[in-house]
Amino acid sequence: MSETNRKPIIVLGGGLAGALLALLLAQRRQRVYVLEGRADPRQHARERGRSINLALAARGIDALEFAGLMPAIRPLMMPMRGRQLHATDGSERFLPYGQRPEEEIYAVSRNALNCALLDAATAHPGVTVSFGQRCVEVDPITGTVVTEDEHGNRRGDQADVVLACDGAGSVARRTMVEQGLCDAREDWLPHGYLELTIPADANGHHRLAPEALHIWPRGGYMLIALPNPDGSFTCTLFLPHDGQPGFAQLRDPDAVQAFFHEQFPDALALMPALVPEFLANPVGRLGTVRTTPWHTGGRLLLLGDAAHAIVPFHGQGMNCAFEDCRDLARLFEAHEGDWPTLLPAFEALRRPSAEAIADMALENYVEMRDTVRDPGFALQKALAFELERALPDRFIPRYSMVMFHPEISYAEAQRRGAHQDRLLAELTAGHQALEEIDLAQATRRVRQQLAASDGH
Ligand SMILES: Cc1cc2nc3c(=O)[nH]c(=O)nc-3n(C[C@H](O)[C@H](O)[C@H](O)COP(=O)(O)OP(=O)(O)OC[C@H]3O[C@@H](n4cnc5c(N)ncnc54)[C@H](O)[C@@H]3O)c2cc1C
Repeated sequence: MSETNRKPIIVLGGGLAGALLALLLAQRRQRVYVLEGRADPRQHARERGRSINLALAARGIDALEFAGLMPAIRPLMMPMRGRQLHATDGSERFLPYGQRPEEEIYAVSRNALNCALLDAATAHPGVTVSFGQRCVEVDPITGTVVTEDEHGNRRGDQADVVLACDGAGSVARRTMVEQGLCDAREDWLPHGYLELTIPADANGHHRLAPEALHIWPRGGYMLIALPNPDGSFTCTLFLPHDGQPGFAQLRDPDAVQAFFHEQFPDALALMPALVPEFLANPVGRLGTVRTTPWHTGGRLLLLGDAAHAIVPFHGQGMNCAFEDCRDLARLFEAHEGDWPTLLPAFEALRRPSAEAIADMALENYVEMRDTVRDPGFALQKALAFELERALPDRFIPRYSMVMFHPEISYAEAQRRGAHQDRLLAELTAGHQALEEIDLAQATRRVRQQLAASDGH
């Protein structure tokens, strides 16, 4: 690829995807100009209550490795080996995510991760980041981005291509919709989320097992907790906005206290600041954004949440956005920076995966808040691990394909997973325990019905 004397590429948004993408393109000898609406998070306190930590899994790690970033990111990662389920009576049960030592996911602070990505991007001479420049308009024909600073001063910057990583509320997407250049469907869940904290104990230690993602599944809603390196846990309550129980009904200290006392008594005992936090923190919305197409005129591309925001129940939105960045960088090499060819190629490659993970993330909500409590679910998980041990080239549990196998696309994981799920349901029907199942026969059935996979 040749050294470019073209205008810089504009990356809109210096969040998780934007910072990584800027670095990847600069590593390919491009001049990249990042316009970020917020102040520099490395110098200013983070926003309150906006998913403080995230689960990073193999797909995200793969993309970060591709950028050479893992030495900087690894120290931020808190391993989680499975789900620790908390019943209303206080009893607990651990369900491992995978069956190999490396099959774990990692809690990472959103802010620390964003700062590490910005450190790496800004250390590259090809990247310039302007903070406090909120995009108010994008012209998809000329590649002009108009931004406004906190004093209302506007300016315009022009680029050969604008790569919009401006998140779920993307202004670039809105512009495309307003100009009839794309359709965007936003499906909001009746549930919202609110973040809370379990602080560290007096010695700075975690008050719950640190190597797990804790879930208090209650059928129609749930509380979860992810560990932080400082000994605390960030908890997220996912609950309907309206109804009983619902956020609208939990407006005063007594109602909040009573709800937690009844549903999450063990968590309540660990949350001394529950009520003030609950009443002060915002309730976030959760939705899926489906956009068609993601690009226009060879000049403007939406990626990450701007193109395909998903609900967080598979912990994959960021992982998927990082895969977007890696794949765009690879295509940039393959097409030698020819954006008008590259943008449709990117969409053709990534759309099936984005659609598949959007569906799987919605399905996973029911699994996390409800199905995990079902003994039949644990039995199917146990059998799935047995089958994976016996026939690793044919059977990999769907959760494992999504979380631990970046070489299998989301779309392929969804397709294979549907087939496997039908088989698991048949093989476990009428059984209560693994010992009751004829494993040799089950293995034969899998061998007959599932083709050996080439992994893609
Ligand atoms: C509660 C919750 C939990 C989640 N948990 C997980 C998880 O465990 N694992 C996972 O993989 N994903 C998770 N996600 C999803 C993840 O947060 C997103 O998929 C990810 O942040 C997408 O990255 P992005 O860079 O596309 O968007 P963002 O991270 O939202 O970044 C967008 C950037 O653009 C900037 N911006 C926005 N508008 C403008 C503008 N007009 N002008 C200039 N700049 C602008 C923003 O300030 C921001 O820096 C979760 C999401 C939520 C809501």
